[in-house]
Amino acid sequence: MTPQSNKYKATHCRICNSEKLYTFLDLGTMPIPNGFLEKKDLEKDEPRYPLGTAVCESCWLVQLTHVVPAEMMFSNYLYIPSTSTTMLDHFQSMAHDLIERFDFKGDDLIMDVGSNDGTLLNFFRQKGLSVLGIDPASNLAHLARMKGVNTINALFSAALSAELHQQKVKPKLIVATNVVGLRDGVPVSAGSAREKRIRHYLSRAPFLLRASAAGSAFRNA
Ligand SMILES: [Zn+2]
Repeated sequence: MTPQSNKYKATHCRICNSEKLYTFLDLGTMPIPNGFLEKKDLEKDEPRYPLGTAVCESCWLVQLTHVVPAEMMFSNYLYIPSTSTTMLDHFQSMAHDLIERFDFKGDDLIMDVGSNDGTLLNFFRQKGLSVLGIDPASNLAHLARMKGVNTINALFSAALSAELHQQKVKPKLIVATNVVGLRDGVPVSAGSAREKRIRHYLSRAPFLLRASAAGSAFRNA
């Protein structure tokens, strides 16, 4: 039951690179979430990883304190937002808001990094837009394709980003919801999006507002 060594503690914020990370919830070491064991593995030593939550005191992004190998976390991912009515409603209204705001044309491409089972992209697809999901979980990529959501089953990386760029895949919008707080090295930032002439880039993650009571509680704790 020992913590695994192939993980590391994050020293810089994943959004603004600040070193001012304040850990406000430390849950010790935990097995991979939803990592249900096979019967044959029950007697084995289950890998455990540090699980803590920190807030960046510069930009207030809430993020995990430690990074575990992405392949281990995401290759078979069991959390599916579409099983929650709240998340379905949220993604539907988010898609409709974005369509209204940016006035996409018929062949415009919307790309979702960490697209899960294609729930969000499916709302764009139903409006006749082209969609491309990227997700490392093969079980989720399969579910997305069953919905008709074109999906690349891979971890989004600098190499994949370059490959798509070379193939002249030019999304008008890239979306990444709840991605940057969980892993390092997501090669999408406002800067890189501008460089690649991506028209719109939206990253959603849990932030804590500077002015909130919770924010001052963290600073004073
Ligand atoms: Zn930050």
